[in-house]
Amino acid sequence: MKIKTAQDYLKSLRKLNHKVYYKGKRIKDVTRHPATAPHVRAAALTYALASDPEYKELATAASHLTGKTVSRFTHVHRNVEDLIKKVKLLRVLGQQTGSCFQRCVGLDGINAVYSVTYEIDRKCGTDYFERFKKWLAYIQEENLMVVGAMTDPKGDRSKGPAEQVDPDQYLRIVERRDDGLVIRGAKLHMTGGVNSHEILIMPTTAMDEKSKDYAVVCAIPADAPGVTMIFGRQANDDRKDNRERIDSGNPVFGGVGGEAVIAFEDVFVPRERVFMNGETEFTNALVYRFAAHHRANYGGCKTGLIDVLTGAVTYLAQIQGTAGASHVRDKVTEMIHLGETLYSSSIACAAEGWPTPSGAYMVDTMLANVGKHNATRFHFEVARLAADLAGGFLATLPSEYDLNSEETGHLVKKYFSGVAGIHTEERIKIGRLIESMIGGTALVESMHGAGSPQAQRVMIFREGDLDKKVKLAKALAGIAPERSRKDA
Ligand code: SF4
Ligand code: FE
Repeated sequence: MKIKTAQDYLKSLRKLNHKVYYKGKRIKDVTRHPATAPHVRAAALTYALASDPEYKELATAASHLTGKTVSRFTHVHRNVEDLIKKVKLLRVLGQQTGSCFQRCVGLDGINAVYSVTYEIDRKCGTDYFERFKKWLAYIQEENLMVVGAMTDPKGDRSKGPAEQVDPDQYLRIVERRDDGLVIRGAKLHMTGGVNSHEILIMPTTAMDEKSKDYAVVCAIPADAPGVTMIFGRQANDDRKDNRERIDSGNPVFGGVGGEAVIAFEDVFVPRERVFMNGETEFTNALVYRFAAHHRANYGGCKTGLIDVLTGAVTYLAQIQGTAGASHVRDKVTEMIHLGETLYSSSIACAAEGWPTPSGAYMVDTMLANVGKHNATRFHFEVARLAADLAGGFLATLPSEYDLNSEETGHLVKKYFSGVAGIHTEERIKIGRLIESMIGGTALVESMHGAGSPQAQRVMIFREGDLDKKVKLAKALAGIAPERSRKDA
């Protein structure tokens, strides 16, 4: 692993010459710009844990390609234990950052592409799997961060990729050359996009025969010519200004993942970095596996966030003098219960993992979808309970400028105090942390990250095996299995 520490990671990002824009201006150094630096620090923790004696067992793995120790964020799952360790690692990182640390998307892309390229080669006689393994060995050796780029803009949602008025609404191949491909389009919601070294591009949906130009999987460096990134605005992003340490709530890690639009304007992809080129029949498996791997994560990272939020409201209750109230204990209990329920789904889908023909392990897709679907509800319910327990003071809380002002500071300190002996500033800090975790972009991420709730419901219905369930019911009701409505 060439990038060994968090500092190495920051240095490697400073060497990238990628084009990142925010609020109309180019960001020269994403590691120092206030809008992006907190997210960079959250991702940097994935590097730091790999050498932390307490966590390196979770944060690293032995590469099956080289036998060397690699980051778990570049590892292909070889067994159930790997899948479980991933969930545990994500929970630890969620606990330590209170934020999205972004590196999981690339990991899930790596695992999906690995197993699917193996299957394409077996059926089509291509050599994508060998190419992909070479690229992956490079990623592992360098210890690079990869952004998994899947979601296309989609234009008119009532039309497929090939029927769009603007054909670039789905990323596509615009030229096939002997030495590679030229691609055009965009990917949205790119978590960690501006602080990744590599972009792993995958189709956003299953493609039909008409959409061969859209069935493309490939990898490019983040600073490849023709790539432009626009970093998204987030709720309260002006508070990430370095002067507003308290008001940002989570000044070190920001509290949410940094999302970007990545545009590809006729980007050349060398042949050895192309891992699918028109094999539409495999797009469904790819999307399905990527989605399941990513959905499996939410009981890890989001449970980590719920741990932090539960701790924050508990501490606030202690310093406000409400911790002993039975309804407070009951609501905190419910927050713990919901967090652990989410965690259970992720552990369960990992424990029920299965080997694909390539040897890479997949999670149980039903349980992964159920877990992510629960995240779209439970995280909101946890946030509701946190808002309930925190009380209305979050809505009235003056800024840290007022706290530090000679004219108003004494009033803020006096009227926002709590239990005797506690500094008012502590109550304000914990309040701001709660505020940053229960509103705006953090919850949008839980709803739509890894696919919207409806995407999970589609998969849950598809995998629900209703025929079997009908048979079970008929057997118990004494209805002959072969009896059809026509016979009756
Ligand atoms: Fe990882 Fe996604 Fe969770 Fe962010 S939201 S920490 S990318 S699984
Ligand atoms: Fe996500």
